[in-house]
Formats: sequence, C-alpha cells, structure tokens
Amino acid sequence: MGAAHPRTVEFSQHFATDLPEMAVPWQAAAPPDPALLVLNEPLAHSLGFELGWLRGPAGIGLLTGTQPPEDATPVAQAYTGHQFGTLNPRLGDGRALLLGEITDAHGTLVDLHLKGSGRTPFARGGDGLAAVGPMLREYLMSEAMHALGVPSTRALAVVATGGFVRRERALPGAVLTRIAHSHVRVGSFQYARLSGNDDLVRRLADHAIARLHPAAADAANPALALFEAVVAGQAEVVAQWMLLGFVHGVMNTDNMTISGETIDYGPCAFMDAFDPATVYSSIDTTGRYAYGNQPLIAEWNLARFAEALLPAIGPDQDAAIEAAQEVLGTYRGRYSTAWTAGMRAKLGLSADVPAETAGELISAILPLLRDHRVDYTGFFRGLADAADTGTDTTTGDTDTADTGPNAGTAAPAVSELLAAAPDFSGWLGTWRGLAPDPALMRRTNPIYIPRNHLVEEALAAAESGDLDPFTRLLGAVTDPHTERPGLERYALPAPEDFGPYRTFCGT
Ligand code: AMP
Ligand code: MG
Repeated sequence: MGAAHPRTVEFSQHFATDLPEMAVPWQAAAPPDPALLVLNEPLAHSLGFELGWLRGPAGIGLLTGTQPPEDATPVAQAYTGHQFGTLNPRLGDGRALLLGEITDAHGTLVDLHLKGSGRTPFARGGDGLAAVGPMLREYLMSEAMHALGVPSTRALAVVATGGFVRRERALPGAVLTRIAHSHVRVGSFQYARLSGNDDLVRRLADHAIARLHPAAADAANPALALFEAVVAGQAEVVAQWMLLGFVHGVMNTDNMTISGETIDYGPCAFMDAFDPATVYSSIDTTGRYAYGNQPLIAEWNLARFAEALLPAIGPDQDAAIEAAQEVLGTYRGRYSTAWTAGMRAKLGLSADVPAETAGELISAILPLLRDHRVDYTGFFRGLADAADTGTDTTTGDTDTADTGPNAGTAAPAVSELLAAAPDFSGWLGTWRGLAPDPALMRRTNPIYIPRNHLVEEALAAAESGDLDPFTRLLGAVTDPHTERPGLERYALPAPEDFGPYRTFCGT
C-alpha cells in the first residue's frame, strides 16, 4: 500500500462514496511474478501517468492492484443481470476491481478498473483470474473499436501475472487495466431495484446523471431524462456495431453500460461473411445474441433498465411506467435514423440523394451480400474503388474493380459478387449514377479490422511468448481507415479453410 505515484494523478472514489451499498472494499491478489506485456502509452500519457514510473515496480503495483495509491479505495462493484434472459440476482465484479476514478486530459472523470485481479465476494464458483490470451483479446478489440469511433472502454495495460490459470488446460495468467467513463451498468440499476431500497435507486440515478449525463439534471424529470439519454446512447452505439459488422456476443444486462460505451469484450468478433444469423459464442446455442438480433436485444435491455429506474422517475408508478414507455418508444426511430445515416455514408451517398432512393439501394444490397456470403468489411471498402473506376464494371468485366487507386486489397469482394450475382451489376449501375463519394467511403469503411483469423494468429503467438504479431495487428487496427503498404494481408478475408469460428467467454 501507499506506493509513491505521480502527483499529477489523483484518485477519487465517487462511486464508493455515493453508493457504499454497492461497493465492497477489496484487495487485489498478489501475482507471483508480474511482468508488463503491453502498455497503451498514448492513453497512459493522456491520463497523466509518467511512462517510466508506470513501467517500473510501483506502476506494476498499481496495474495489478497490489499497491494502490494512498488516496484510492479499491472496490468490487455489485450488480445483477439478466444472463441470456434469465435474472441472476447476484453477479458483481467476481474477478475485477474498481481502483478509483481519475481525471483524463479532457477533464473528465474516468474509472481505472482491473480484470483478473483475484477472487472477490462476488466470485461465486470462479477463480477470480484471467488468462493472457483473452485479456490481450479485449485490449485489441476495445482499442480497435475506439479507433473506429465507437464508444468503448479503453485498454491501458496487460500485465502477465507469472502464474497459471486453470481452464481446459493451464494458461498463463494476466490482469487487464481498463478505462471507462463509468462501469455502471443496466445490471447496477437492477441490483439497486432488487434491494428494495428506492433511495438507493435514486442515488444511483443521481450518480449516473452527475457523471455521465449532466444535462439531465436540469430536466423537469431528471431520471426520465437519464433514461432518454441512455436510450439515445444505446441506439447510437448498437447502430455503429451493426454498421461495422461487430457481434458483441453476450449482451446480458450486466454487460450494457449507462455511459453508452461498449463493454466486456468476451466472445465478441467482427463478422466475416455477411449473415444476420452470425453467432460466434460457443455458449449462445439459441442465437439470442446473433448479429441481426442486437438492435432488439438492446431494446429489451433498455426495458429492464426502465423497470429498475421507475422509483426514481416518480412516486406514481403507473405514471412512471407510461412516461418510460413513451421514451422507450423512441428507441426504434433513433436506431433506424442512426443506422440509415451510417449506411448512406458507407455507400458514399450525399445529402442530395433522396431517402427513398437510398433506402431502396440499402435494402437491395444486404440480401445479395447474405446470399453470396460476401466479406462484409471487404465489400464496402472495395466499393469505394468501384466508385473510382467509372462505369466499366457494369459491363461485367470483373477485373475493373481492381484497378482503382487502392487496387488489390479489399476490392475483390466487389468483383467476386459481380461474378457470382449478375443482378448486382444493375445495383452497381444505379449506385454509380448517384455519384457516390469514394473519399467519404474510405473515411467510413475501415480497411483493417481485427479479423478473426488474424486475432487467433496473434494470440497464439503471444501465448508462446512472441508479441510481434499482436503488436503489428494492433498497429493496423488502431488506424483502421488509412491503407498502408506492407499491411496487405490484414485487409484480406479469412482463408477458405478458416472456421467455423467459435469464441468463448468467462475465459
Ligand atoms: P462476464 O461474462 O465476463 O460478463 O461475467 C459474468 C459474471 O461472472 C461477472 O459477475 C463476472 O465478474 C463473473 N466472472 C467471470 N469470470 C470469472 C472468474 N474467472 N472468476 C470470478 N468471477 C468471474
Ligand atoms: Mg460482464
């Protein structure tokens, strides 16, 4: 305890102070032989940490939670959650700790949170530990999402513990340090509501408003305004997932934040071939959290949030339900507005293109992508090249899509679709007639995402001690829109013999 730390980084504990019923003071387990594996230097710098200090013994003590600063009170946060639709009243940070809150470069308070720091009173049957592979995976995925402009928790560091974690086999252990505007979840509100203490629900709402949605404080009904802000945030973030082909994989209510940040990168993955039924998680046997279900699941989770929030909305429960339902009723419109605007940008369509024309184009292309199992990311990126190449491609010459200024990488998805689906040439002609903007498309459609085969390759190498593939992939996906020489293979779809891809959570 009490290690020296840079004076610039001061810890506060608003969560623990405002909500003591939901914060269990707890001490991290001491790792046998900790060693820093990855440090997010730009993020560390923006948080006011001195990099040399953070890399040294005191820094490792902070990043493993064993030497928290004197002004920090690490806590395990309590929450509840609907897991695959079934209420589990007592979840909480089973292997995680909120070290405290610090101020980032924008003056915003953010959580410093550890994952894999040992058993807590919420651990149930779990060992409280995390393995190197899954923690590096969360690091990579969350940093890619951030670079893609999606609200997300950030990864600050992964420290190898020097110990082993017992899974199907013994795996090297690790602790991830992550940053979020807040780790308060829908499940946090469910916990407060289930406790039967309406004052706790109101305090939690006040806490969330003060930290995350301060404008709601000035509304006639702040709790209702909080609900509206969360509905708006979730509609936006899930629309972004859908536009990018991101499958979260475990959208339980404890994995949905009030901040609107994507959280808990467990079995998540980016879709390869476009198919709304895509499921990667090995435990999602019914496809509840399939790619195409995500918008509706978010709405379902928001309804659970509203139920938990009712006591804060007002004393008259019928009136509160009616008001909440009205706000929830705006979700679908918000989602579809965000998604449609995003799809228009993906297709490079200017504001002059009428909504009806854009809508017809959008609804015609998705079934073609699905029926022909076209690589989702590669298609949209390659389409920008097809916009550059004039009208030649519509003649059926399938090579012309490869002759644009960014030839040879993602464009094949377009020419392959043209070869496989003659009806696509009609679509392409109509689309080109609308003068799509390839520069807008390249700003919108990433060329480098954490493709599943690349993620697996990087993690396998990391597990045997070689971090180079991880570092290279991280470098590609954290500047996802700028095509760079030497990164050609990062833009290519998975090899034919890859898959079916399966992901695992709780690992
Ligand atoms: P997740 O699937 O990561 O959202 O976790 C669901 C719940 O299980 C949370 O309460 C976690 O804290 C808990 N949990 C997951 N893995 C472990 C573990 N190895 N040890 C203790 N608790 C865990
Ligand atoms: Mg979780």
